Amino acid sequence: MNIILLGAPGAGKGTQAKRLTSERDMVQLSTGDMLRQSAESGSQIGIDAKALMDKGELVSDAVVVDIISRRIDQPDCAKGFALDGFPRTLEQAAALDVMLDEKNKSLDAVVEMRVDDVEMVARIVGRFTCANCGEGYHDRFKTPAVEGVCDVCGVSDFQRRADDNANTVTTRLMAYYKKTSPLIGYYFAKGKLVTVDGMGTIDEVTKSISNVLDQVDGSAKSQSRGLLGSIFG
Ligand code: ADP
Ligand code: AMP
Repeated sequence: MNIILLGAPGAGKGTQAKRLTSERDMVQLSTGDMLRQSAESGSQIGIDAKALMDKGELVSDAVVVDIISRRIDQPDCAKGFALDGFPRTLEQAAALDVMLDEKNKSLDAVVEMRVDDVEMVARIVGRFTCANCGEGYHDRFKTPAVEGVCDVCGVSDFQRRADDNANTVTTRLMAYYKKTSPLIGYYFAKGKLVTVDGMGTIDEVTKSISNVLDQVDGSAKSQSRGLLGSIFG
């Protein structure tokens, strides 16, 4: 199954992508993570991207489209993927359509996670992750069971993103409203959009998304049975 998780910064895309991919045998494709890795590796593209990311601005379409296209070609994406943070503009969405066509792949669903602005800001400013395994946490909404120790790997080394601060939040939210939110209409018109309430607890949101994906999966299977039935039945 190939899906997009669509939502403003802090909506919970990464959190849910990690859960989905462990439950459903798909891979998480986060352009934000890929760009941060590229910056850490010291590549010029990564360094240029970091300057924009630290200000809360979007990186150019050409750079992220190229990164995603190469990543989708890797064998592990054959089992299915959850795009997290891509596409973020109509141009990226159009490039994704072409790219998937060329690669003989298609999108099963676009899951929009709807969260209000006050909650988004609270989620962004309180976010931190384990520096060792990448598990995500929050100062108020998801603290480690033992203070200062990662629940997953037991390491006591946490980090915060350079762009997760009150100064960049407005720029990032405005980039979402101006450039990314038009994708809601784009995918609605293609019959791919499903919207879930992202305001519940992490478990509640996981359940809503799982229900939606079960329905999408079920209807895809019954359609293909119907097609086989009409050929062989
Ligand atoms: P995104 O990938 O959309 O930017 P994240 O998944 O990183 O967002 O979530 C942002 C922050 O909010 C993280 O600290 C995460 O632990 C927390 N979070 C995610 N989903 C929820 C939720 N449903 N309720 C409360 N906090 C959440
Ligand atoms: P994220 O980790 O998804 O919150 O992304 C962090 C930052 O990376 C964003 O604020 C952008 O600067 C950049 N970025 C990530 N994905 C994209 C994308 N698809 N298009 C443009 N910029 C992106």
